[in-house]
Amino acid sequence: MIAAETKAVAARGYATYGPAAKFGPFDFSRREVGPNDILIDIQYCGICHSDIHQARNEWPDLMPATYPMVPGHEIIGSVSQAGDAVTKFKVGDIAGIGCFVDSCRECAPCTGGIKQYCLQLAAYTYNGTEMDRVTPTYGGYSNKYVIDEGYALKVKADGDLSGVAPLLCAGITTYSPLKRFNVGVGSKVGVVGLGGLGHMAVKLAKAMGADVTIFSTSPGKEEAAKKLGADHFVITRDAKAMEPLRNSFNFIIDTVSADHELMPYIGLLGYGGALVVVGIPPSPAMIHQGGLIMGNRIVAGSLIGGIPETQEMLDFCAEHNVTADVEVITPDRIEEAYDRTVKADVRYRFVIDMSAK
Ligand SMILES: [Zn+2]
Ligand SMILES: [Zn+2]
Repeated sequence: MIAAETKAVAARGYATYGPAAKFGPFDFSRREVGPNDILIDIQYCGICHSDIHQARNEWPDLMPATYPMVPGHEIIGSVSQAGDAVTKFKVGDIAGIGCFVDSCRECAPCTGGIKQYCLQLAAYTYNGTEMDRVTPTYGGYSNKYVIDEGYALKVKADGDLSGVAPLLCAGITTYSPLKRFNVGVGSKVGVVGLGGLGHMAVKLAKAMGADVTIFSTSPGKEEAAKKLGADHFVITRDAKAMEPLRNSFNFIIDTVSADHELMPYIGLLGYGGALVVVGIPPSPAMIHQGGLIMGNRIVAGSLIGGIPETQEMLDFCAEHNVTADVEVITPDRIEEAYDRTVKADVRYRFVIDMSAK
């Protein structure tokens, strides 16, 4: 039996073989559990919109698809094996994996706790390679993951973990810029778009004590917005509602990945206010420099978060009882979930139950 512990780990995932192919079962191997590795038995994996972009090869320049692809970077499960040198985890602990699983460990971002910005390019959780640049990475639509403990997150949660999985991408993507721009009690925060990311931004900003306004193009979302805890709901096209809000926001997070204008939101920022974009629309947006100069305003981007900050976010969410609103599905419904996510027909995140057969 000892020999079995030094072998590659047999894993089963759900893979797609092309941009229009259906997902099907896929048997593959994870590397053997090394001294610093943990083996996670995956319980849930969220479906992020970027899974769909990559599975369907819609980002051919940014992240070209390699097949077979097992997507998934909102992973949560329990530790079933820990290497001899592992200190952070023990068997039975709940652990999470986000968007990257390794990096060069030597560059300034890596040693500075922001490995997602690794100058050598981090090893993404799927549709990438290990740092050997050869071994493909397969994501969380699978039953097991082997990862260096330094790239895994501790989850202090019991009970239902399905709503915790999306924190690993949607949660940290919105938490990191909220923290960077010091959102807190009394901050006036705007959230553009009410999808997987937007709904997390609302919950996190409310937990931080901010006054939150949702900007949406769909009047039908007002009731849902209020249910999430948003203080105000504004239809972006409604000039009469937008005008009195000019120069008043400390922080606006824009989660929309369809083409849209930024200037209407920049005009809402008060002195020194920041608009942070986390969606990547197909076409670039135009920014008028005058709108930034007048009011000392900032437009910034943000990419997930480092391991220390992701841990801080998970601890914050545990303390404030923040989880994602999810619809749990079995792995045979991935295509249906993709189609509904594209149509924004989900409140607010699909999560695959990987223990379901
Ligand atoms: Zn994601
Ligand atoms: Zn690095």
